[in-house]
Formats: sequence, C-alpha cells, structure tokens
Amino acid sequence: GRNRFEFFNDRLAEGMHENLMLESALRVAVERNELVLHYQPLVSFTDITMVGVEALVRWQHPTLGLIPPYKFIPLAEETGLIGEIGLWVLREACQQMVQWDEAGNAVGCVSVNISVQQIETGLLPKQVKEVLQDTGLAAERLFLELTESTIMQDPEKAATAMTEFKQMGVKLAVDDFGTGYSSMAYLKRLPLDRLKIDRSFIKDIGQDANDEVICKAIIQLAKSLGLETVAEGVEEEAHAEFLKALGCDVAQGYLYSKPVPAQELAVRWKKT
Ligand code: C2E
Ligand code: CA
Ligand code: CA
Ligand code: CA
Repeated sequence: GRNRFEFFNDRLAEGMHENLMLESALRVAVERNELVLHYQPLVSFTDITMVGVEALVRWQHPTLGLIPPYKFIPLAEETGLIGEIGLWVLREACQQMVQWDEAGNAVGCVSVNISVQQIETGLLPKQVKEVLQDTGLAAERLFLELTESTIMQDPEKAATAMTEFKQMGVKLAVDDFGTGYSSMAYLKRLPLDRLKIDRSFIKDIGQDANDEVICKAIIQLAKSLGLETVAEGVEEEAHAEFLKALGCDVAQGYLYSKPVPAQELAVRWKKT
C-alpha cells in the first residue's frame, strides 16, 4: 500500500544518506592516511615456516576504532575509490617488504588483493611496474590475488592484464577458489601460479565429507596443472593434518596467526 511504499522510500533514502556520509568519510580517511595494513602469515605445510604474508587493509578510524574491510571495501568498489585505495595498499605492502629486508627480517612474498574495478580501468599493470621500480621489490616476491568472479567479469581484459603481470615476473593467485562462477577453461589459459582454496571448504573438514572430497579434488586439479595450493582459514590442527596429507602446499589461518600489524609480525616465525 501507499504507506508501505513511503516507508520503503524513507529507508532507502536513509541508506543512501548513510552511504554518502561513509563515502565522504572514506575519502577523508584516504587523504589523512587512516588506512593501515595488517599481515597474515602463509605457512609451508612441509616445515611450518612462514613463506609469505597476505596484506589485508583496515581503516583506523579516529573515534570508531579499527574498521574491517567488509565494511568499506564494497563501498570503495562502488564509488571508484578502490582505485586509489588499491594503489595505496600495493605501494605500502611493497615498501613494508623492503623495510623488513633492510631490518634483516626478510619475508618471502607478499600477496595483495585486487578488485575487479582495478582490472577494468586497465591502469594496474603500469601502476604495478612503477611501484616495483620505486620500491625496488623484486617482482617475483609480489603475488596479486584475483577472485574467479573478477577474472570472469571480463575474461579477455583479465587475461591481458595477467599476461602483462606475468611478463614483469609478478605471481598470480586465484582467490576464494571454488566459490565464484567460473570456467575450468581459464585455468589452463591463464598464467597462474597458485590456487587459494576458499575457507568455506576448509572450516568443516573432519565433519563434512563433501567438503573433504572438494578439497581433495581441488588439490589434485591444481597439482595436475602445476599450480601451488594455499588453504585459507585453517583454524584447527585436524584441518592442517588432513590438508597436508593431501599434498596441499601452504596454509593460512588462525591456527598459525591472525592478521597482525607489521611491527607485530613474528618474522622468524616457526611453530613449536
Ligand atoms: P580474503 O582475501 O579472502 O582474505 C582472507 C580473510 O580471511 C581475511 O579477512 C582474514 O583475516 C580471514 N581469515 C584468515 N584466516 C582465517 C581463519 O582461520 N578463520 C577465519 N574465520 N578467518 C580467517 P579480512 O582481513 O577481514 O578481509 C576480508 C576480505 O576483504 C578479504 O578476503 C578481501 O576480499 C578483502 N580485502 C582485504 N584487504 C583488501 C585490499 O587491500 N583490497 C581489496 N580489494 N580487498 C581487500
Ligand atoms: Ca585474498
Ligand atoms: Ca581468499
Ligand atoms: Ca574469502
């Protein structure tokens, strides 16, 4: 009825207003350098040493505290701010790697998440090249993580960008593998290095036989294609034992460490 329609409209307007406020706050946040990166270790299943880190962005808000990415990345993607934020993340992560090097605490590789808008603009390959030149980080030590949905949004454009990254020596990972709309065809066509098995398949290992079968199939598929596998969201020893037995290469999850600020990363990390 009429009243309900107006109620809906009010709510919609309210939501839009909130979004506008958040959007301008986010713009200011970027200018004021309120974004921070936390780093989560990636751990080799072979010897439980840290082989790299994933850089994960947070918003250090002056009054609201630390805001997680799911609360502002979608908005940044809708408004186009992700271009600026993504470039900041890339530069910051590469700079941090060089700082760890200089402190004698070299961290193998750093992984950076890429949004679909960054692929669509076509600016990213040039930006990556510049950041690597400016920071001096070796290209082989940078992984770019793209989800299946990002790749499938515009497969031609994604393939072009990925080929350029590959030519620079930058490594490529498919993020959240198994959750997006995807085509097996891209797996063999694209110059990939790594598949990251989504946390949703990992968390019920030990309880859900279907998830176990899916993990096994993904690891075998990756192996036959010559790709490294990373298991996301490894929280329990039982997950780790199961995945290691299947030949999974690398683990990432709370069992080893949550994402932490750069200065808190235990660089000479070895699980006892
Ligand atoms: P993601 O790329 O899949 O990152 C992994 C997420 O899983 C991180 O959440 C991490 O904290 C969480 N995680 C890791 N291990 C465990 C575990 O054992 N258990 C559980 N429950 N969670 C675990 P976070 O940091 O909140 O990031 C969420 C998402 O936000 C990321 O998912 C990524 O899609 C996005 N994101 C974060 N940083 C950036 C960025 O710089 N750029 C873009 N475009 N997206 C980002
Ligand atoms: Ca990721
Ligand atoms: Ca992921
Ligand atoms: Ca995920």
